[in-house]
Amino acid sequence: MGLLSEAGRVGLRPELREVVEYRKSGLSLNWIVGCPLDCGYCVRHLFGNFGMKVPRALTTDEEAVEALVSHRFFRPHVTPVQLLNRATDPMLPAVKPHLLRVLGMLDERGLTNHVLVITRWRIEPEDCAALDALRNLRVTMLVTHSGIEDDRVEPVDSGIAAESLRTAFVHAERFRVVLYWRPIVPGLNDSDAHLARGLELSRFAHAAVFTGLFYRDEIRDYYRSHGLPEPYEDQARRKIFPEVLEARILAAAAGRPPGGAVLFRKTSCAVAYAHGTADYNGHVGIRELCDICPVSQLARCENAWSVPDPGVVAAMVKEVGGRLVGITGRAVVVEGLDEQRRYFLQHGLGFQVHDASKPHHPHRHGRADLGWPVIPEAS
Ligand code: SF4
Repeated sequence: MGLLSEAGRVGLRPELREVVEYRKSGLSLNWIVGCPLDCGYCVRHLFGNFGMKVPRALTTDEEAVEALVSHRFFRPHVTPVQLLNRATDPMLPAVKPHLLRVLGMLDERGLTNHVLVITRWRIEPEDCAALDALRNLRVTMLVTHSGIEDDRVEPVDSGIAAESLRTAFVHAERFRVVLYWRPIVPGLNDSDAHLARGLELSRFAHAAVFTGLFYRDEIRDYYRSHGLPEPYEDQARRKIFPEVLEARILAAAAGRPPGGAVLFRKTSCAVAYAHGTADYNGHVGIRELCDICPVSQLARCENAWSVPDPGVVAAMVKEVGGRLVGITGRAVVVEGLDEQRRYFLQHGLGFQVHDASKPHHPHRHGRADLGWPVIPEAS
């Protein structure tokens, strides 16, 4: 794959030219952009590069590794990392060799960080062998499967992801496999048959996450311009997941035959469980998220979690340019910090860090208000 020319880069949004960015599940390295898969709900709509179908590299693989490990927010062995999760699919034939190469280079440095790789494309047995050969990194392959049949929304056959999941799970020795069951959209892929299919697939994963749709203005515009049925009348900053749908999924899971993977509401919880580690986002402080988690995992998270010392936190917050507002039994509350700096603190502390101007509501952690009753959080 060639490097994107200077002229090509000029047309990219500044966010896309930034190859390292902090996101909730980890420090995200995106040195290749462009994807032919055309999923209607793709985050590429948010970056204005949905039309870029051919993957192109912004840097060499070596430069990408250097950009990651020298980033001011990267901490060896601590910072969770995501590779190529923003503007391409890492398992596309043109992209995969670069993914494996960068994994190899990070592994050779002896780093034990979690590394999350999200794909809906093909995983072959030889890919699994390459992943299993890594000695240090804790790699998780998150295989996205929605079961959406409307090919105006999702032209890629969900059968590809289902097959990848099986292949990865059967071959995984050292790396872990998570079923990334998303987006689940009311009216589109939430029938009882869809739920049964998702739960059946969870037999081929070490853990499963279910989640809703990231439905913002740009994605809504795409739906409208393509005459797609709109799932919601409003748009929202966070993922949308109606309470009733969650209850149906959990009820269906409770009634399934033994053998399926444990379900989680949060990506990092599934990743942590799959590797036998505590959740690095400190979700255990948001206790209502944990009512579906195995007792042994709850104990693991509780043991690793404690309310941090206010003096220490205040100094950390100040150092990255913010102000500590307070610490509750659930989260550190700050002001003046963007998402990236909040996630940096959150992963370093293993404790939730919230923005005072964006209150989280009980039982709706990190989700949009649509579909949920409005209950202000108790102070
Ligand atoms: S105990 Fe809670 S925080 Fe830990 S993995 Fe389970 S759901 Fe997540």
